[in-house]
Amino acid sequence: MLFAALCFACLAACGHSSPSESGAQGTSTPQAATFPPAPAPETTGGFDGARAYKHVEQLVAIGPHPAGSEGIRRAQEYIVGQLKSFGCPVEEQDFHATSTPVGDVAMKNILVKIPSTNPNILIFSSHYDTKRLDNFVGANDGGSSTGVLLELARLLCVRKNAATIWLAFFDGEEDFNLNWTNRDNTYGSRELAASLALSGDLKRVKAMILVDMVGPTNPIYRRESNSTPWLTELIWSTAARLGYGKVFINDSNAIEDDHLPFLQRNVPSADVIDFENSVLEYWHTPRDTLDKIDPRTLAITGHVLIECVPELEKKFK
Ligand SMILES: [Zn+2]
Repeated sequence: MLFAALCFACLAACGHSSPSESGAQGTSTPQAATFPPAPAPETTGGFDGARAYKHVEQLVAIGPHPAGSEGIRRAQEYIVGQLKSFGCPVEEQDFHATSTPVGDVAMKNILVKIPSTNPNILIFSSHYDTKRLDNFVGANDGGSSTGVLLELARLLCVRKNAATIWLAFFDGEEDFNLNWTNRDNTYGSRELAASLALSGDLKRVKAMILVDMVGPTNPIYRRESNSTPWLTELIWSTAARLGYGKVFINDSNAIEDDHLPFLQRNVPSADVIDFENSVLEYWHTPRDTLDKIDPRTLAITGHVLIECVPELEKKFK
């Protein structure tokens, strides 16, 4: 039993080692994809699930990247580099979480602010940090939504948007403690919401859509009950129109996540998250690996988000 455990620890550690300076990209090979390729982008509003999957693969290859770690600096370099390659205007919001259970931790939100003559702001967001656990690479929890957001950036940064669109990649969503405890989480989203309240820009934010854990096969998204009802309805009715009524189902659940700091400041916000038992089985364990990520799920999620943009633009023109 002990031997088996040791073997597993070694395999996991080997499989998740970081790419070398020379850029070895093969470290994720032991977790090869087990699902069919993503649907053609023409069938998902231009959103390329294969590109989103590639981003998840690259983030997983970095290895663990919890807030304040060496790994997260490489994740930041990757995200910023990709955004710049898409022609996106990138801002880095550096801040310190001064009273975490491990003391002061330097953190960074990565923001894309795509200008428009319409000052109304729509935010799409995800956290990109992984939970501080041994051998935890967060393919689904951290990786999947970051991959979706990066592919969304590629499309939105060249689109002629009829509203100001921001993309927010949050640091420090995960607790330093093992379990979700009061205020030892959502450091990045709390920082952005607070800074926007200070600058006065928060009033311009008309909708904030958060994605988290959007990679599992056969996904189920329930209407998250803390979220703003009209925004949830806009997302779920868009999904139904696109034929995804069996993914975006009408049952509900309640999840605490990066949308709460915005809700608490009266910004309409919604969370799209698969928190079913099939996911919880490997959630926050070293088994949250690339083989859990279905490119089709990334594509469905991205398709719905990209189709929500004109709906929101119509609403806030
Ligand atoms: Zn998590």
